[in-house]
Amino acid sequence: MAIQSVRGMPDILPAQAGAWRYLEQQAQHVFSAYGLTQIRTPIVENTALFARSIGDVTDIVEKEMYTFEDRSGDGVALRPELTAGVVRAAMEHGLLHNQTQRLWYQGPAFRYERPQKGRYRQFHQIGVECFGISDALMDAELIEMTDQLWKRCQIRDAVTLELNSIGSPEARARYRAALVDFLSARKEHLDKDSQSRLERSPLRILDSKDESTQALLSDAPSLTDYLTDEDTEHFERLTRALEECGIEFEVNPRLVRGLDYYGRTVFEWTTQALGAQGTICGGGRYDGLVEHLGGRATPGVGFALGMERVVLLMESLDVIPDAYQTQADVYLMPQQIECESAIRKLARMLRAQFPSLRVMAHIGGGSLKSQLKKADKSGADIALIIGQMELENESVVYKPLRGGEQETLTEAELLNRISKLKDA
Ligand code: ATP
Ligand code: MG
Repeated sequence: MAIQSVRGMPDILPAQAGAWRYLEQQAQHVFSAYGLTQIRTPIVENTALFARSIGDVTDIVEKEMYTFEDRSGDGVALRPELTAGVVRAAMEHGLLHNQTQRLWYQGPAFRYERPQKGRYRQFHQIGVECFGISDALMDAELIEMTDQLWKRCQIRDAVTLELNSIGSPEARARYRAALVDFLSARKEHLDKDSQSRLERSPLRILDSKDESTQALLSDAPSLTDYLTDEDTEHFERLTRALEECGIEFEVNPRLVRGLDYYGRTVFEWTTQALGAQGTICGGGRYDGLVEHLGGRATPGVGFALGMERVVLLMESLDVIPDAYQTQADVYLMPQQIECESAIRKLARMLRAQFPSLRVMAHIGGGSLKSQLKKADKSGADIALIIGQMELENESVVYKPLRGGEQETLTEAELLNRISKLKDA
């Protein structure tokens, strides 16, 4: 039996790779336009980093993390998200002291979950983390970046923004007490998971996907009523800034997110188009995290998007440009073996003249018909053919593959034609 891939860890095949590249390029463009720099951290970190940052009693740490002992017996884990590692790296290399950082990252993350559409055991995130800025305008700018990214990826009409403030630690402590009071009196109506969370992490119950628990919560005290004046001011500054740049949002007082380190701003971008796995991006403020991990108190705010879900959404809306789904712009075909050298020379010349032109030269002989089939499959718009006659005349047959008349051109005419093509 041939060995297969590990469950929940899909391959990204050539047919999909273009969509991934499209998303990556749009993200890099947006991040560069906002002055961010990239950070790359390891896939494996000490398990303790995640237990301490994400929280011991979160789903991620309790049930979803890939942990193992390496050969020296150290407890390590495949990262379930990238924020913890970025914070660790920034602390370890002194990037936070007396300076601000606006960083972006991209890479795989691992969670042991039940695989289904939009949910995998290896998946990929693109994210941003900003350190040293507590102003709500930074929160707003991060959201603006995601808005820009959805526009560039042409999925903006299919997503909506949900926003909440979960307040400062003091506000959450007071709210926590009120919520526990309320839910304890109705404990038997809670789902099992939520019952076990009642003592350990009651706020997470707000995030429960269980319907009867959600129904119960509609009468529960609202976090919004427990915010401090500073929390409220921060939130209002954020919403004003979003209104200024025309980004619509819905305040969802029950949005809490499943990680321990958030405080004040939390947000999610969701879509109806992907079924249950509708959250394509989540983020928020984590002013306590750096200190909690042993560093000097440093404000932070960030977001992460799930690349698989964004790609699925782009595919379902059919918005990926052709250039990302084809291999070539021009396909060069030698009519006989004697023409192969001329074809390869022409290919080299075109690649040198037009660095962004995608040039495929046919290799492997075969009839004109079979070569044309390959040319068509490559997605090229134009076939360039050299036969005995063209070899003698130093010309080339220019054959449009998507409609139009075939012509014989000199090299100068060809260059002229292709330079116009590239301008278009
Ligand atoms: P969900 O509620 O769907 O489980 P989450 O709250 O666990 O998501 P985050 O930890 O906020 O997710 O991660 C940020 C983004 O990464 C999510 O919004 C989602 O798009 C993506 N993501 C998270 N887990 C997975 C997974 N197992 N497979 C694919 N994408 C994922
Ligand atoms: Mg999850």
